[in-house]
Order: sequence, then structure tokens, then C-alpha cells
Amino acid sequence: MMIVMNTEATQDQINTILARIEANGFKAHISKGEERTVIGVLGNNPIVIREQFVYMPGIERIVPISRPYKIASREFIPQNTVFPLDGIQIGGDQVIIMAGPCAVEGRSQLLEAALAVKEAGAQVLRGGAYKPRTSPYSFQGLGEEGLEILAEARQVTGLPVVTEVMAPELVPLVTKYADVLQIGARNMQNFALLHAAGESQHPVLLKRGNAATIEELLMAAEYILSHGNQRVILCERGIRTFETATRNTTDINAVPVLKTLTHLPVILDPSHSTGHWEFVTPVARAAIAAGADGLIVEVHPNPLEALSDGGQSLKPERFAEMVHQVRAIARDLGRC
Ligand code: PEP
Ligand code: MN
Repeated sequence: MMIVMNTEATQDQINTILARIEANGFKAHISKGEERTVIGVLGNNPIVIREQFVYMPGIERIVPISRPYKIASREFIPQNTVFPLDGIQIGGDQVIIMAGPCAVEGRSQLLEAALAVKEAGAQVLRGGAYKPRTSPYSFQGLGEEGLEILAEARQVTGLPVVTEVMAPELVPLVTKYADVLQIGARNMQNFALLHAAGESQHPVLLKRGNAATIEELLMAAEYILSHGNQRVILCERGIRTFETATRNTTDINAVPVLKTLTHLPVILDPSHSTGHWEFVTPVARAAIAAGADGLIVEVHPNPLEALSDGGQSLKPERFAEMVHQVRAIARDLGRC
């Protein structure tokens, strides 16, 4: 449930309420607006304890949150979450384009890709150092060496870096190099990892599992948020359906549905959701038209030689054209 304080509520009154929440074994989440404070009461069944708060001074009203996810819900935080990342705003008017190769394969490959995506107008560099491959015999990523190369590319281009972290024990290491921690589709419900990412207080890009419902994605986000980490970006990356013409099926509905259910920024990955470079640009256009706050796109200087996901990677010049088309749609919609 949500306790909405009245505009005259004092800090003493708020503190008394916080103490009672704690005494009842619940967790409080405070959201300070310009006019009033809203306190979320988080726990198994806060509705039962409503009676203990209802006559406390300073309270305007108590509202149950009907969704199973609380902090992630728009009921709890009506305004969009917007946060800065190295000079850009995630979740604001600006459409954020993250781009780079699926995997960091070496220094020259990554630097070439990084310079090309920067030149084309990307604002964030992506690249996997730890790769969750379906086969144990496929390229698994360069590990820490890959992170070092990403850090160098950040220095050269000025672009912040997003990279995947696959295990809770790697969170401290990846946090040292990355500006945003990516939690991949296969790990969306790795609760130990969600916990560690929440504790890190680092921005997190959470990708939807390929068989996860929208509600399950939001519950996964709730794990991160419940550790006090508010900087979570959600990513639709295609789901598994009966259709085999593409690698996954882009759930374009997820964009407006998520934007309705949650205040968190929502981006779309047209590379993994289609699996074919020819379909990346049309689906990227659709995502922005549907209201996505950004994209994450695989770009490789030489897709034919890529060690992973070459077939869905754009060449730099095609990526530049994609950015051009996507920005035109964004401008039409009053974004930039
Ligand atoms: C990736 O971004 O390279 C990746 C492995 O994505 P996903 O987790 O969506 O499959
Ligand atoms: Mn990939």
C-alpha cells in the first residue's frame, strides 16, 4: 500500500510513520515529490495493517497498490523515471541509441565499432565481455580483457558503456568498468544476480526473458528496485513464439504496455528480436513509433567475420542510415 502524506506533513510525522512501518516488519520506500511525500509500504500483505496507520497525523490517504510489483508501478510513481548518464538523460525526451558489437572480440574490432557508432550518433556503446552462449563450444567472450578494451573505447569516444554481467560474484568487477550493467534475457530471473545488481546501486539494463511475461519482467525489476536502486532500464528483446521465420518475435505491444504499467524507461533490441540484419531497421522504426525511449542495436565493422550474432549485426553505414530514420520519427513525435 501507499501512504500519501498531506502537503503540510512534518518530518516528525513522517519519521513516526517510518518507525511504525519498521516495527511491523515492513520496508518503507520514500518518494519525495515537490508538494508531498509518498511512502510505499512493502511486504507480504500490507493491506492487513492499514488500520494501524489510518488515523496517524499527516496522512492524506492510504491507497492500495493493486499490482504485484510496487515500486515499479505507475500507481506508485506516476511520473517517468529520468536519470542522467554521462551527460545524457535516460527516459527523457531524448531517444537513446546504444550500439556496438554483440561481443568484444579484440581491441581493433571494438575501437573501430565504437568510433563508427559514435560518428553515426549513438550515445552509448554496447559490447559483451561475458557472453551467455547457447553452446559451450561457441566463443564465450574475452572476460576482464574485454572489459579493459571497453574502458579504453569509452576514453577514446566519450561514450558510456553497457555490458553484460552473468553472475553475482562478477558484479563488483563489471561495475568497475561499465556505466550500465546489462542483465541478459537468460538471467532475467537469476534472483541472486538481481539482488547483487540492486545492491550495487549501478544503472541496470534488464532484458526480458524470451519466455517471460511482462509481469514477470516487472517483478524482476522490482527485485532491483527493492534494494534501493532506482536506475533500471527495461528492454524488450523478442519472445519465443510458434513463428520460426525470425529468431524471436518482437512483442511490439510490450512497449506501450510497459509505458502504461511502469514509470521505468523502456528500450527495444531490434537485433535479438529479429535475428536478421535486414529486419533490424524496420523494427527499430516501429519501436520508436510505439513510444520506446531508446534502442540497443548490434553493429559490427565486418559482420561476416563476427564471432557472435554476425547475421543480425548492422554494418556501420547501415546503422548510420537507421539512426537517421529513427531520429526523424522521434522528431515527428516531439522527441529528439
Ligand atoms: C546480447 O545483448 O548480446 C544478448 C545476449 O542479449 P539477450 O540477453 O537479449 O539474448
Ligand atoms: Mn548478441
